[in-house]
Amino acid sequence: MAIYFDNSATTALLPEVIEVINDANRTCFANPSSIHSLGLEARARLGKARQIIADSIHAQSEEIIFTSGATEANNTVFNIFNYDLIITSPSEHASVLEPAKASYKPILWLDLDKQGFVDLGQIKNLLQQNSNKKILVSIMHGNNEIGTIQDLVSIGQICSDYSNVIFHSDCVQTYGKHEIDVNKFKLDLVSVSAHKIHGPKGVGALFMRKSLQDSDWLAKEAYMLGGSQEAGLRSGTENLVGIIAFAKAVELMPGDVARQRTYQLTFDLYTKLKNMPGFVLNGSTDFSKRVLGNLNFSLLMSRLKSEELVLQLDLAGVCASSGSACSSNKQASEFQIQSSYVLRACGLTEEITDKAIRVSLSCLNTQAEIEEFIKIIVPLLAKFPVRSKV
Ligand code: PMP
Repeated sequence: MAIYFDNSATTALLPEVIEVINDANRTCFANPSSIHSLGLEARARLGKARQIIADSIHAQSEEIIFTSGATEANNTVFNIFNYDLIITSPSEHASVLEPAKASYKPILWLDLDKQGFVDLGQIKNLLQQNSNKKILVSIMHGNNEIGTIQDLVSIGQICSDYSNVIFHSDCVQTYGKHEIDVNKFKLDLVSVSAHKIHGPKGVGALFMRKSLQDSDWLAKEAYMLGGSQEAGLRSGTENLVGIIAFAKAVELMPGDVARQRTYQLTFDLYTKLKNMPGFVLNGSTDFSKRVLGNLNFSLLMSRLKSEELVLQLDLAGVCASSGSACSSNKQASEFQIQSSYVLRACGLTEEITDKAIRVSLSCLNTQAEIEEFIKIIVPLLAKFPVRSKV
C-alpha cells in the first residue's frame, strides 16, 4: 500500500463514513422534496445533517446551503451578489480566482509577503479608499499549497467596520483541522468541502449569513436555478447520501488529541528534513499558522523539479504533490510545466518555486510512514544531485 501524503488534494473515506453511505443508499433514497412518508424521512435526515454542519462552524442551520462542493460554493459567491469591487489575494484557489475574473468587476489584489500572509494595513487602506463602493472581500483561511493561515479574526474585524463590505472565506483546507467560528471571524460567507475531511467527493456547503439572505446584496437568488431546493438558494435535488456522509465525517472530525498527534508527526517530518543541506520551508515558518499536516518545501540540493520529484516519489510508493491538484489539469503539456502561482505570488526565487513539493498528512498517517518516507527521499535526492557547473 502506498504512503498517502496528499491529504490536501483529497482524503480517504473513513470506514464509518463508507458504512453510512452504504446504509443510506439502501434506506434513504427518497427525494427530500416528496411529501410521502419516505420523502419526509429523507427531509428529516437532510435537516439533521444541516444542523451538524451548521454547529461545526457556529452557524444556524438555515444559513447552510448544500452544494456540489467548494468550487460551486465559491462560484455562487461571485455570481449572486451585487458588488462593485472585489478585494482578494493572488494565492486564492482557482475556484475563487476564475469566477472573480469572470465577474468583470474590478479586482484589487492584496500583496503577499514571502510566507504568503496578506497585509492587514493594506486591507484597511483599500476599504477606506473605496468606502463609496459595495465590496466583496474574499480571503481564504488556509492556503491549499503552502498551508499559510490568514488572521481571519483581524480581517473580519476590519471588514465589520464597513457596512459596504461582505466578507467571504474559502475555509476548505482548515475545516476540521482548525477552529472556524463564523461569529468570531465575522464572516458573511464560507465555503467548505466534504472530501477534505474524509467524507465523499461532490458535496460541500456554503454558509450564507441569514441577514445577507434577506438583503439587497443578493442580486440573484441562486446560482443554480430550477426547483428552488435549499430554500430557493440552490436548485437541484440534494445529494442526500453525500450530505448524510458529509455530516458523519463532521461528527468524526479529529479532536484535540488526534490533531496533536498529526501535528507531532508533521513536525517530526519537518525536523528530519530541515537539516538536509538545501532544504527550504515554504509558507508560514510559525507552525501555529500552518494548516495542520501541511509541509511545502523545496529541496535545492537536487536537480529534480517539482513534478519530477513527485513522479520519482510515486515510483518509490509515496503519493505527494507538486502543488494544487486542481491546477494540474491546466498544464498544456509536459514541456510547459508551470511552477506554482502561489509560490510565485509570494515573490520566491525561481529555483524555490521550480523545486517545491507539498506533503500533506491526515489523522490516518503513522510514524512508520514518516520513517519510511525519509528512507525513500534521502537516497532519491542523492541520486539526482545538482549538476556541477563545468
Ligand atoms: N478551495 C480550496 C482551498 C481547495 O483546496 C479546493 C479543493 N482542492 C477547493 C476550493 C475546491 O473544492 P471541491 O473539490 O470541493 O470543489
